Amino acid sequence: MKFYNTLTRRLEEFRPIEKGKVGLYTCGPTVYDYPHIGNYRSYVFEDLVKRFLLFAGLRVHHVMNITDIDDKTIRKAGELGVPLAEVTQKYIDAFHADLRTLNILPADVYPRATAHIPEMVSLISSLLDKGFAYEKDGSVYFSIERFPGYGRLANIERGNLKPAAAATHDADEYEKEAVQDFVLWKGKKPGEPYWPAAFGEGRPGWHIECSAMSMKYLGPHFDIHMGGVDNIFPHHENEIAQSECANGMTFVNYWLHCQHLIVDNKKMSKSLGNFHTLADLLQRGCDPMAVRYLLISAHYRKLLNFTFDSLEMAGQALARIKNFDFSLKSIHNPGEADPETAGLIAAAEKAFAGHLADDLNISGALGALFDFITKTNQRMTNLKQKDAVQVLAFLHRLNSVLGVLDAAEEKPLDAVIEEKIGEREAARKAKNFKKADAIRAELKARGIVLMDTPDGVKWKKE
Ligand SMILES: [Zn+2]
Repeated sequence: MKFYNTLTRRLEEFRPIEKGKVGLYTCGPTVYDYPHIGNYRSYVFEDLVKRFLLFAGLRVHHVMNITDIDDKTIRKAGELGVPLAEVTQKYIDAFHADLRTLNILPADVYPRATAHIPEMVSLISSLLDKGFAYEKDGSVYFSIERFPGYGRLANIERGNLKPAAAATHDADEYEKEAVQDFVLWKGKKPGEPYWPAAFGEGRPGWHIECSAMSMKYLGPHFDIHMGGVDNIFPHHENEIAQSECANGMTFVNYWLHCQHLIVDNKKMSKSLGNFHTLADLLQRGCDPMAVRYLLISAHYRKLLNFTFDSLEMAGQALARIKNFDFSLKSIHNPGEADPETAGLIAAAEKAFAGHLADDLNISGALGALFDFITKTNQRMTNLKQKDAVQVLAFLHRLNSVLGVLDAAEEKPLDAVIEEKIGEREAARKAKNFKKADAIRAELKARGIVLMDTPDGVKWKKE
């Protein structure tokens, strides 16, 4: 399995530190607003990587932080005139709901920054003790001069750096061109939350949060750190500096970064009217699984151009997979399986996994799946139930990586239909005949006819 490592700018064979296990950290949301679909591209990509690691038989320990204190969250609470925790809790809840909607596997831990202030304070103390940090006007800064590796991740030529001593950054975010000493601890300001520390009351900078929380849950040295390309500088560069100086060892072995998403070939912006949150798309009636399909369907190191046409096409591709699933579940022919079925499955699985092992070549992997669907559709009329069972198991193994079939498709056909019948009965009891009729029509469209009999509702295939 090979990944493109941002740190070395090379494709590298993935070798976990501990055999069979992966320590994975992904930068989570700053909970001051609803994430846009560009943010979700990163989260869905990270989910694809994690699912593929699981598919490959590795055990993954996944930590995703929640940034619930930083410049943006404080500003938002100030604008609304409500306590910080009230603002952040609202967006934390919304974020988790979106993760479920997009079928993103939950992380093992979602540490919140405000619950880890003592860890951050002790990390900053250690950097001060070791001479990598200094105090200035009540704040604490990291001295980038003291870390020769500074700039490696973002590929900054150290020779071109300005003498940094005089200038510092108080903001959490700034450009690569403005590289300077960055803030670890921001001295107490009126109206801002603050915590006690030996080096003065204040609050953490954004970057130290991820160093402290990853270290706590994954140790000082772990396997994979992911995020969007906009995290490379300054956030991840600064995480490396803080962590490696405090611990005296390599922080992370593999850094993977997902490219931006653009909409209609333009940068997403509220003023252009092309800014979408997941809720916006759902309100327009978009299928969340089609959104997920679209977000994973482009290679992660390429720009993804989101358009409603491409979303429609994603929905069509997804429908092909769902129809395939449905056709297979409808096969009840007795008899032994055709040996060719197992051969086709083995070849398709090898191709699918081989493409993903090549730096997540998703087009190749999806191509292998659709090739297999085409070949199997040609054989469909001759298939026995025993073939269908094998093919379904294979399809659902692939879906454990893609995650594009929702819970309904993960169940056997009978269970899906019985569930729908139950929903329809409940709707009828509630005198919601519109919904009951809609369920009947939905099943009819899939070739299932409902019959109301004295013994209750029965169903048959058309
Ligand atoms: Zn982070």
